[in-house]
Amino acid sequence: MQPLKIFNVIPKLPEGLEDLWKLAYNFRFTWCGHTENVFKQIDQQLWSTTSHNPLLFLQLVDPKRLENVAKDPFFQSQLKLTTETLKEYFEERPSPVIEDASPDNPAVAYFSFEFGIASCMPIYSGGLGILAGDHLKSASDLNIPLVGIGLLYKHGYYHQYLTPDGWQQESYPDLDFNQIPVLPLEDEHGNHMRITIPLGKSELHAQIWKAQVGRITLLLMDTEITDNPPEFRAITASLYGGDIEMRLWQEILLGIGGMKVLEVCGYNPQVIHMNEGHSAFAGVERIRSFMRKGLTFESASEIVASSSVFTTHTPVPAGNDRFSPELIEKYFSDYARDLGLAFKVFLSFGRENPFDDKEEFCMTVLALKLSRFNNGVSKLHKHVSRNMWKELWPAYPMDDIPISSLTNGIHAPSWTADDMQEVYDRYLGTNWREDPDCETLWSRAANISDAELWRTHERLRARLVDFARTRLRRQLEAHGARKQEIQNAEEILNPQALTIGFARRFATYKRANLIMREKDRLLRLFKDEERPIQFIFAGKAHPADNEGKKYIKEVVSTCRSLDYRFHMVFLEDYDMEIAKHMLAGCDVWLNTPRRPFEACGTSGMKAIFNGALTFSTLDGWWDEAYLPDNSIGWAIGKGEEYSDPDYQDYVELRTLFNVLEVDIIPEFYDRGRGGLPRQWIRRMKKALTTLGPEFNSHRMVMDYVHKAYKPAYDNFHNLSRYDFQPARELAEWRNDIMTKWSGINIRNAHIEVMDETYVGESIRISVDVKLNEIPCDCISAEAYFGQVQQDGEFVSRNIKKLKTVGDPDPEGWQHFEGVVKPSKAGRFGYTIRLIPTNPLLIDPRSLGLIRWAVPQESS
Ligand SMILES: *Cc1c(COP(=O)(O)O)cnc(C)c1O
Repeated sequence: MQPLKIFNVIPKLPEGLEDLWKLAYNFRFTWCGHTENVFKQIDQQLWSTTSHNPLLFLQLVDPKRLENVAKDPFFQSQLKLTTETLKEYFEERPSPVIEDASPDNPAVAYFSFEFGIASCMPIYSGGLGILAGDHLKSASDLNIPLVGIGLLYKHGYYHQYLTPDGWQQESYPDLDFNQIPVLPLEDEHGNHMRITIPLGKSELHAQIWKAQVGRITLLLMDTEITDNPPEFRAITASLYGGDIEMRLWQEILLGIGGMKVLEVCGYNPQVIHMNEGHSAFAGVERIRSFMRKGLTFESASEIVASSSVFTTHTPVPAGNDRFSPELIEKYFSDYARDLGLAFKVFLSFGRENPFDDKEEFCMTVLALKLSRFNNGVSKLHKHVSRNMWKELWPAYPMDDIPISSLTNGIHAPSWTADDMQEVYDRYLGTNWREDPDCETLWSRAANISDAELWRTHERLRARLVDFARTRLRRQLEAHGARKQEIQNAEEILNPQALTIGFARRFATYKRANLIMREKDRLLRLFKDEERPIQFIFAGKAHPADNEGKKYIKEVVSTCRSLDYRFHMVFLEDYDMEIAKHMLAGCDVWLNTPRRPFEACGTSGMKAIFNGALTFSTLDGWWDEAYLPDNSIGWAIGKGEEYSDPDYQDYVELRTLFNVLEVDIIPEFYDRGRGGLPRQWIRRMKKALTTLGPEFNSHRMVMDYVHKAYKPAYDNFHNLSRYDFQPARELAEWRNDIMTKWSGINIRNAHIEVMDETYVGESIRISVDVKLNEIPCDCISAEAYFGQVQQDGEFVSRNIKKLKTVGDPDPEGWQHFEGVVKPSKAGRFGYTIRLIPTNPLLIDPRSLGLIRWAVPQESS
C-alpha cells in the first residue's frame, strides 16, 4: 500500500529553547565546545549514541527532558550565551582578504569529492575529505570569501565491521537527509532547488542542499529524485562505489553540475579551487560559459586557467582517475562541438602526449592544463608530482615544472582534546583558536607547567583506555562473542603504559602490519612488567582492496591471540570520533608509509596539538617537520627509498624496534620527582612551539589566499576588464607567438670568463637573438647559471634576465647583455634560454615554449 502523502514531523521545542535549532544547523558545534556542551547537558548519553548529530538528537530527545531543561535557569543562560556567541561570530568578522567579497558573496568556489566535517555526515573516506572539512573551518574562522561544492551521498562511506576471523565487512548507512544538519535549498516559491545537466543522450537532475559550516556555505548535490532513471539516482548513492562509468558520472555531476549550482544560487566566483582532479570538468564548463558570452575557446581558457587553483594529492600513478577515449566520447562529443573543438583536440586536454590516440583521458592532466596554480601537499610531494607530470612540460628542467608545494594543515580547535584546550587557554591565551599560525603564541607553550601538561595528558590516556574497552566490548557483543571474552574487554590495556597509536586507511603502502613481522620482539616489549607498551589500531581498507583487508585480518588476529590481547586492540569503524579519542590519549603516533607514497598525512599534525609525539618514516609532512636531533619526535631511517620492498621492511622494522627500545621506551619511563618524564615533556612542548604555528589549517588557508586565491582573483579581473578585451588580446598574442617561436634563433652566446674567476667577481654574459618579428619585450633572454656536478648537470641554478642593448640590426638580430656573480666557490656552468613573456601572462610555461642555447651557438 502506498501512502497518499509523505510529510515530515518536526519536534516542537518548548518555549525558550528555539535557539537550539540555530545551534543544530551550524556545524560550528564541531569546533565550539560550548555548543557541544549545550547538547551534552540535555542528554549526554543520547549525544553520544546519535554520533554527535544535533539534528537527530533534537528529534529523538525525550520531550520531558526538554521541558525540564527549559525550566532550568542555568541551562537557559548557557543556551543564551552560546547562541549569542554564534551571533557574534557572524557579526564580528576579521577584515575581508578580498575587497567586496565575503562568504556570502564568495570569490572562491572550493570543489571536493569528500568533505569530512562531522562524523554524523559520513561523506568522507579519509585524509582528503578531512582536509577539505578543515579547509572550510579555517576559511570560516578567517572570513575567507569561499563557498564549498560537493556531493551528498545517500550511503556515505561505509561502516566497517569484522567477521570473527577478522575479515572486513562493509555496511552502508542509509542517511536520511532530514536527520542531519543540512537544509534543502529553496527557491522563492518554497520549491527544493535543482539543476539539470545533459548526461550523454539524457538529462541528469540533482537537488541542492545547504550545510552551514560556521560562516561558510557548503552546497551539496544529490540525485535521488524520481525524475531521474534508477541508474542516475545511484550517482550519489555512495562515495567511491560503482564502476568506472559511475565514477565518470559523479565527476561530471561534481564539475559541471557544481558550476550550475553556483549559477542558480546567484554566485559568481572569480576563482575556482579543485581539491584533487575529480572536479576538473568544472574548468571545461567554465570555459563553455565564457564562450556563451562571445569569447573564443582560446580567450575563455586563458581566463579560466589564469583563475583556477588545483591541488593534487596522489603520488601513485594508479590513483589518478583515467577514462577510456570511448567513454569520454560517449559523454563529451557534443560538448566538444559546443566548445568548437575537434573531439581529438578535446581529448588532448586529458593526455600527457596529445598525439597518442590510445592514451586514456586523465583528470589530473586535465586539471593541470586548466589551472595556472598547481600544488602538491608537502615539499616532498611537490618533487614527486613534478617527476610524475614532467612530460606535460617536456622542454623544462625539473625545477621549472609549474607544480609548487603548499603543505596541508589541520584545524586545531577541531582536533585538540577539550582538556588540552583548557591548558592552552590558560597558558597561551584564548586567541590560540583564532591565531594558531602565530609563532609567539605557541612559543608560550614552553611556559606550561610540566606537571599540569603531564596530568592532563595522563587523564586523556586513561580516558582513551576506557573508550577502547567500551568499544571493544560493544564490538564483541555485536559479534556474539563468548561471555568470558566480553568480560576480558574490561581488562585490556593499561592506563599507565606507553601507548602507541596507529590509525589510518589500510592502504598497503602504509604497512599497518609491519610490527607484526617481529612478533617475538613485540611480545618481549609487551611482557616487560616495568616498562610495558601497548598498541591501539584502527582503520578501514577500501572495499575493493583485498590486500588492505588482509593486513586488517593480520592485525586483528594478532590482537585476538592469547598473548597479545591485553596489549593490543583494533577498534572497528575508524572515523573522526575514534580519531579524536586516539589522538588525545596516545603517547606516540606511529606511521610507517613507504616513502614517497604518503603525499602529506595529517593525523600526525593532529597529534602535535594533543601532545602525542610522532614516530614515522621520513615521508610526506614528517620529511619537512622532523628535526634530526629527535627533539620533536623520531624517525625511522633517513628518508631512503628502496626498490626491494622486502628488504625495506627488513631494514626499517629493525630500525623501528631499535629506536623504540633504545630511545622511546627508556625515556618515557625515565621519571623524576612527582613521576614526571621531564625529557619527554620537553619534547611535547618543543613539538608544540615549533610545529604548532606551521601545521595548522589557518596557516594553510592563508597560504592559499596569498599564493593562489588573490593572484588568481587579480588575474581574473585583469583579463576580464573592458568586456574581456585583455583576454582576447592575450589569446591572439599566444597564437602569434606559437607560430613565430620556431623561427627565433640564438648566436654569439658568450660569457666573459676564462677557466677561473673569484667569488663575487662580476662576469658579463651576452647573446644575440633573432627575433623573427616577435617584439623584443615579448622575449625574455635569461642567463641560467649555477654549480654543476662532474657530469655537467646543474645542482643549483640562478636565473638572470638579460637586458636589451640597442635596437635590432636590419636582419632582426637583437643584442642582450647582463652580469652575474658567483656567490660561492665551486664548479660553475652557464647557459642561455629564451622564454616568451607578456605582462598579462601569469605563467609563460603554459605555452610550453622555451629555447635553450646549444654549444655551436656560443662564441
Ligand atoms: C586525520 C584523519 C585521516 C587522515 O590521516 P592520515 O594521517 O593522513 O592518514 C583519516 N581518517 C580520519 C578519520 C582522520 O581523522
